[in-house]
Amino acid sequence: DQFADNHFIRTIIDEDLKSGKHNTIHTRFPPEPNGYLHIGHAKSICLNFGLAYVYEGLCNLRFDDTNPEKESDEYVRAIKEDVQWLGFKWAGEPRFASNYFDRLFEYAVGLIRDGKAYVDDLNAEEMREYRGTLTEPGKNSPYRERSIEENLDLFMRMKAGEFPDGSKTLRLKIDMASGNINLRDPVIYRIRRVHHHNTGDKWCIYPMYDYTHAISDAIEGITHSLCTLEFEAHRPLYDWVLDNIPIDNHPRQYEFSRLELLYSITSKRKLNQLVTEGHVKGWDDPRMPTISGMRRRGYTPEGLRLFAKRVGVSKSENIVDMSVLEGAIREELEESAPRMMAVLNPIKVELVNYDPALTQSRSAPYHPHHPEFGEREVPISQTLYIEADDFSENPPKGWQRLTPGGEVRLRYSYVIKCEEVVKDAGGRIVSLKCSIDHDTLGKKPEGRKVKGVIHWLSAEHAVQATVRQYDRLFVEARPDAVRGEDGEYVPFTDFLNPESVTEISAWVEPVANTLAPESRYQFERLGYFVTDRHDHKPGAPVFNRTVTLKDGWQA
Ligand code: ATP
Ligand code: MG
Ligand code: MG
Repeated sequence: DQFADNHFIRTIIDEDLKSGKHNTIHTRFPPEPNGYLHIGHAKSICLNFGLAYVYEGLCNLRFDDTNPEKESDEYVRAIKEDVQWLGFKWAGEPRFASNYFDRLFEYAVGLIRDGKAYVDDLNAEEMREYRGTLTEPGKNSPYRERSIEENLDLFMRMKAGEFPDGSKTLRLKIDMASGNINLRDPVIYRIRRVHHHNTGDKWCIYPMYDYTHAISDAIEGITHSLCTLEFEAHRPLYDWVLDNIPIDNHPRQYEFSRLELLYSITSKRKLNQLVTEGHVKGWDDPRMPTISGMRRRGYTPEGLRLFAKRVGVSKSENIVDMSVLEGAIREELEESAPRMMAVLNPIKVELVNYDPALTQSRSAPYHPHHPEFGEREVPISQTLYIEADDFSENPPKGWQRLTPGGEVRLRYSYVIKCEEVVKDAGGRIVSLKCSIDHDTLGKKPEGRKVKGVIHWLSAEHAVQATVRQYDRLFVEARPDAVRGEDGEYVPFTDFLNPESVTEISAWVEPVANTLAPESRYQFERLGYFVTDRHDHKPGAPVFNRTVTLKDGWQA
């Protein structure tokens, strides 16, 4: 099938279905709406929604919105759009952890009543001191033995806004000597007077992520709660919470490794920094590894799903080369993108024996294997543009393109021969004078072999387009993992590629003027390009280069 197969989570699900533990599965994709989704999220989306698809189960989209400072409706909207664009449908309406705040509060009250939670007055720094270390147990807070009545009273007053921010917390009473630091009386509520994108100013206390996440999963009837490996040590807390509140469903958490993409960044916080510091032009800048940036770059949902399938799902390190991503995109576009000709760096060709009565145009298919894509006329006229790179006065060995006195075929047209190189006073090539062999339209030339085929455009018919060519955003494979001599991390922004985009004016086929935004084409011999989602207009085409035809990441 189209999703990663035979991985350990599928094995677990197969067993759960076989044993009758579950009749159907229910997963969720739970982003925090604190930024736009990136390629790492695409992996998680394909995993969670893909499993629901394969097993005919359900997958929820849930916003884990417990940090109001950093969250916004803009991010909620962008995340929904990205998930849909990738081709997935969530079950019912999108969910918000914040919609469970009342229930989360009631469960917290229940935990206090059961003597399993207490209000603590330690401040953040004191709490760190009491927490202990990996090798040393923590110490009980002096407030740990407050009575249930006192805890209930204080928690109600926390909610009522009687105490300043940060002055009190609600903590679970688990075990300050636990070998797992996450079980050393974790905080489940803190006081924060911040406006929340969904609940407004209703609350001045907010539940913590781990507590919220476990209960949200249970409320939604999730069967398999999939998260990245850094949450492995949080699993005992996830289970503790669900074992100690009155709720029937107890989802099981499984962890897989995070995707890391070389020459890129997979952290919303750092991507946010690129945006706010102006290193890129917004979250959907085509250089960004965000889903919306990759979309604008011309990547396809199918290509991204193929990539997710290829990177797979496991617990081992998942550091992936950019060539794997670009390879998947290229492979998919190879079949799905119609083709046209474009000349990015033109030199003029004057056809010395062009004769409107004799010289004919042909029509050409938009794709060699897909007749259903249709055909268009490829017009010819007296003056053509060819790529400057396709001509050489001093060609290297094996050169198959144009050269003085040499012949080459114009794609979908005649064989031409370079008769004369026209130069200006400074010796710069101005144009080439070429002759057509009129016997070569759709026919091999007589008595000689012409191997080279080049792309070209009729100057009279070609239209001008803005073409943006993108290169790697970072010049360092792991820009956020480089340490300086002092042992500190070097800012990842030090490794930005100053030439990650160049914008040129180029010539393209007339059809470009009629295209809708986000039309993807192969420019023959050059690469895949897409009309820009925002800037492209009929009559003023703007193309982004999605990916070159050949892998440029090796050596
Ligand atoms: P970031 O640090 O970029 O904000 P996150 O893990 O905090 O990432 P969430 O919004 O919490 O982002 O992520 C939603 C889901 O996407 C989580 O289940 C998370 O595990 C998954 N996810 C995020 N980044 C990656 C990644 N690089 N590879 C695989 N899954 C990821
Ligand atoms: Mg997170
Ligand atoms: Mg995060």
